Amino acid sequence: MQQIHHLIDGQHVAGGSGRTSPVFNPATGEQTGQLSLASSAEMDTAVASAQAAFEEWGNVSVARRTSLMFAFRNLVVDNAEEIAKRLTAEHGKVHADAMGEVARAIDNIEFACGLAEHLKGSHNEMASTGIDVYTVRRPLGVVAGITPFNFPAMVPMWMAPNAIACGNTFVLKPSERDPSAPMFIAELFQEAGFPPGVLNLVNGDKVAVDRLLEHPAVKAVSFVGSTPIARYVYTTGTSHGKRVQALGGAKNHMVVLPDADVELAADSAVSAAYGSAGERCMAISVVAAVGDVADSLVDAIKVRMEKLVIGDGTDSASDMGPLITREHRDRVAGYVGSAAEQGATVVVDGRDTRFESDGFFLGVSLLDNVTADMDAYRDEIFGPVLSVVRCDTYGEAVQLIADNPWGNGAAIFTRDGGAARQFQEDADAGMVGINVPIPVPVGYHSFGGWKDSLFGDTTMYGPEGIRFYTKPKVMTARWPDPATSSVDLGFPTNE
Ligand code: NAD
Repeated sequence: MQQIHHLIDGQHVAGGSGRTSPVFNPATGEQTGQLSLASSAEMDTAVASAQAAFEEWGNVSVARRTSLMFAFRNLVVDNAEEIAKRLTAEHGKVHADAMGEVARAIDNIEFACGLAEHLKGSHNEMASTGIDVYTVRRPLGVVAGITPFNFPAMVPMWMAPNAIACGNTFVLKPSERDPSAPMFIAELFQEAGFPPGVLNLVNGDKVAVDRLLEHPAVKAVSFVGSTPIARYVYTTGTSHGKRVQALGGAKNHMVVLPDADVELAADSAVSAAYGSAGERCMAISVVAAVGDVADSLVDAIKVRMEKLVIGDGTDSASDMGPLITREHRDRVAGYVGSAAEQGATVVVDGRDTRFESDGFFLGVSLLDNVTADMDAYRDEIFGPVLSVVRCDTYGEAVQLIADNPWGNGAAIFTRDGGAARQFQEDADAGMVGINVPIPVPVGYHSFGGWKDSLFGDTTMYGPEGIRFYTKPKVMTARWPDPATSSVDLGFPTNE
């Protein structure tokens, strides 16, 4: 069985806490690895290494930093298949989906390769007579990232490349569930030639996270995960004086107007609801069907669901793999049962699908006539369950989104440009799709939701990521002729 430890100061370091966590292949149900869970003292070693590395790294030229980032990007491109293989083996997502995740990780690394453009600062000549004012952006020091199980390769790359290209050093604490892909990526990072300590990877659980949140040398924390932990990380980290951006859970609505192309809407709903077994923070979990579109849309979705192949992600015939753990699979299945008890119509019941393997598989479910008071609507299910809420009007659908505590993504399907334009303004969410069900922004925009989907002031990656990982310093400069110098006790004005 594979033993997975830490990567600190450029070296693999065996865990010494005596605490471990099992790693499973969710497609077989077998334990394939054992993960070391760091103690506070082990986290301190990693932070100390990052702190020492920052002394030099913060002053390395932008040209050098980005040329190393290019080398890293090339290694990730060359090893995309291997990363995807590890994702499938521990997360369970199918190979094509895993390759998509790696592609989005590369998108973010490529943005960091061009960081010089974003670190240019600004300059005002003659802000006052003979006085120039200019702003530069400086790195913060040691920054940390805490990441979820569902994108073990992509989410760390939302954070570390930008933070490091800005001149910070980084401590990554990935999810305990699927640690092999982030470890392999951290090894590629070393291979690219970055100095030891610029990126340290520490595996662990709450003990490791709490130490990062309290450690005085950690200046900023980026978090992605569930809403209760995001809220905890935000409040604990900020109370220790850190900058924190904490992205939480989601309940993403797809509004389908009566004029929409039903075939396109059904394709999109099925892809976005069941892709990656629904374990995506941008998955569509609710279709708000407006007016008379509902019956035909439910039929079209059902037809497509019957054709989905669920199986081991290594099999190229599989469209959807297993869920992450047995407990999570059972929890998701429970929502289908509670929806039925609370009055929803179970159009397709994923619990009826039988599987030969002991993996954490669950069939796909479709719930119709769901209302906002049902558990299946109120909670983030994070599995292959799609709820249809029937709305009489567009206004009702918009209100549904506004009343929902989460605000990650929202999408509209329509052929009416005016309605789409109106939805862009009305949707109470941070990312909006217009005939696009999963509107994850490209690496040169930024990612983040509203309401309980994000705690903090900046969204993640892209230009907002640069703002998060740097602090401005403003210079006011004058090179006067000594002959004109005199004492003046007045407050400087713009004369
Ligand atoms: P999680 O909140 O359980 O874990 C996320 C991280 O927090 C992990 O590294 C974990 O080790 C750590 N953690 C867990 N419990 C902790 C505790 N009590 N104290 C301190 N740290 C703790 O999330 P998950 O199950 O790994 O991921 C799924 C969740 O992430 C879903 O809710 C999903 O919507 C969300 N997510 C959000 C986004 C986004 O961009 N908004 C992206 C991906 C995933």
